[in-house]
Amino acid sequence: MKVVTSVTTPLITGFVPTMGALHEGHLSLVREARKQCDHVVVSILVNPLQFAPNEDFKAYPRTLEADLALCEAAGADVVFCPDAAAIYPENFQTRVIGGELTQRYCGQTRPIFFNGVLTVVNILFGIVRPQKAFFGEKDFQQLFLIKQMVKDFWMPIEIIGMPIIRESSGLAMSSRNSYLSELQKQEATCLFQAILAVQEAVKTGERDIQALLDLARSKISLEIDYIELVSVKSLERLTGTLLEPARLLMAGYIGDKPRVRLIDNGLVTA
Ligand code: AMP
Repeated sequence: MKVVTSVTTPLITGFVPTMGALHEGHLSLVREARKQCDHVVVSILVNPLQFAPNEDFKAYPRTLEADLALCEAAGADVVFCPDAAAIYPENFQTRVIGGELTQRYCGQTRPIFFNGVLTVVNILFGIVRPQKAFFGEKDFQQLFLIKQMVKDFWMPIEIIGMPIIRESSGLAMSSRNSYLSELQKQEATCLFQAILAVQEAVKTGERDIQALLDLARSKISLEIDYIELVSVKSLERLTGTLLEPARLLMAGYIGDKPRVRLIDNGLVTA
């Protein structure tokens, strides 16, 4: 708890939206919100709007009791965990439809995903009314699209992106990692190995984007969904020669039952 005795600037509410099954990645956002803000609100909602019928909405891990204890320990003041029915009542009608970038990269295999995310984040911003909101770079495309929505709609909210938290093996922490066996977790570190290999190749002079993407692919033993180098500034796909700060974005599938989709990304600068 933070005791405020004098007010020189308006009190700031910081907000961390999540789908629960919390891990250190989520908690890093809560701790940063605690550092920067007077009030910290975490939301936990498995958002049905962002899952296609064939995806894992039902199976998505739900660990509310443990999540509440973790939120408390990380310094949250309020945990908002509504029923989906409270957020989407029967007469719910309005949706956010993002631009063309919602259909690329992760949006190619998950075309309704980002519009579902933008809609729920918009609703939650309306309920919580934060001045600052914290999102992970783990979901780099999502972070970009939320920043774009806030800009396009003139929302008076500062969006703060936070670095990816990884296991010591390099595997990016994710609620979906709970679907994986220890062996699969080990195999899935190839995504991080691909990032390291590309970063190293750029450091030693490689600038050919096709060669860098080929190198990344050669490191990944999963079934690849997509791998792209995109502009950090515009999220446009880069081709030819690497001339600007880029993000290596990728997604892959591991396992059969369930077939688990994992994402990862890393900064690549010349
Ligand atoms: P989710 O519960 O998966 O919707 O994630 C909620 C928030 O936590 C999003 O802003 C994610 O980007 C962020 N997040 C998830 N995993 C990580 C991670 N490994 N490192 C940093 N942030 C993360």
